[in-house]
Amino acid sequence: MLVELGDRVSLLPGGVNIGVLRGDGGRMALIDTGLNETSAKKALKAVRQAGCEVAAILTTHAHADHFGGNAAVVKRTGARVYAPAFDEAVLRYPLFQPMTLFAGADPLETLRGNFLLADPSPVDEVVQPGSLLVEGLEVEVIPLPGHSLNQVGYLVDGVFFCADVVLPESVLAKYKIPYLFSVTDHLRALDTAEAVPCRVAVPGHGERVESLEGLVRANRALVLEVMEQVATLAHAPVTAEAILTGLLNHYGAAVTDAPSFYLLQPTVFAFLSHLHRHGRLAHEVRNGQSLWVTC
Ligand SMILES: [Zn+2]
Repeated sequence: MLVELGDRVSLLPGGVNIGVLRGDGGRMALIDTGLNETSAKKALKAVRQAGCEVAAILTTHAHADHFGGNAAVVKRTGARVYAPAFDEAVLRYPLFQPMTLFAGADPLETLRGNFLLADPSPVDEVVQPGSLLVEGLEVEVIPLPGHSLNQVGYLVDGVFFCADVVLPESVLAKYKIPYLFSVTDHLRALDTAEAVPCRVAVPGHGERVESLEGLVRANRALVLEVMEQVATLAHAPVTAEAILTGLLNHYGAAVTDAPSFYLLQPTVFAFLSHLHRHGRLAHEVRNGQSLWVTC
C-alpha cells in the first residue's frame, strides 16, 4: 500500500522502505527496490495500480537489501538506474559485497545468500551530490557516506529519503554494533543528515519521522560508545579479531553465523582506522600478528 507523503512523493513501507516519486506523464522513480524479485514485484504492482509505470530507480547504496530488486524492475520496465559513484560498481558486480566482507578474497558459500549477494543491476547514471533532474522532478542528492563507501540520500519536495545513515532504535538494540564502512565519514554524515531541512524523513528501515534529531542522537551515541569500548579493549596490544570477540562479549550480541560475523569484521576495522587517524591507537605488526594498542 502506497502511503502519500506529498503530491508527488509516496512511500511503500517494507523491510526496506521504497520511495515512489511521480515524474512527468506518470513516469515514476523508485528510491531503492528492496531485497529481491518479491519486493520489486510489490513495488511494480503498487505503481501500476496507480496507473503509472516505473521509469527510473534511484539507488541509495550498494547493499543487497536495497538494490536486490533492481534487476527484476529493469527486466520488466527498462527503467534507468541511478547510483552513487563507487557503490555503482557493486551494483554492476555484486560479488564485491561478500568479497569485501571476506577480507577481499573469494567469499565462502555461506556469504553468498541473497542478503549479501544480489542479482547484478545495470547502472545508467552515476549521481553526484547536488541537484539531479529525474523524469522532470528535481531531486537533491545528499552525500551520506560511512554506512557504505558512498551512500547518498534523496530529498524531494521536503521528504528526505536518508537510507541507512540512521537505523531504528529497535535495530540498534538488537544488533548493538551496526555495520559501518567508515566511522569517520559516518559521524560526518550524521551531522549532514541532521542539518537537512525536511518535513518528513524516511530512513531505509523502520518508521518515518518528522525530525531526524532523536534517531541521529541515538545512532551517534552508539557509535561513540562502541568506539570507547574498542579503545578500552586495546589497552594492551591486541588483534582486531580479539577486539571483535571482546565487543561481542561486552554487548552480549548473539553472533552465531558467518554473515553476521563477517559484517562485523570490517566494522571493527572501521573503528580501528578512525581511532588510528585520530592518534588514539597505534598499530604494529609483531610476531606474525597485526596488533592495536591505545596510545
Ligand atoms: Zn545498508
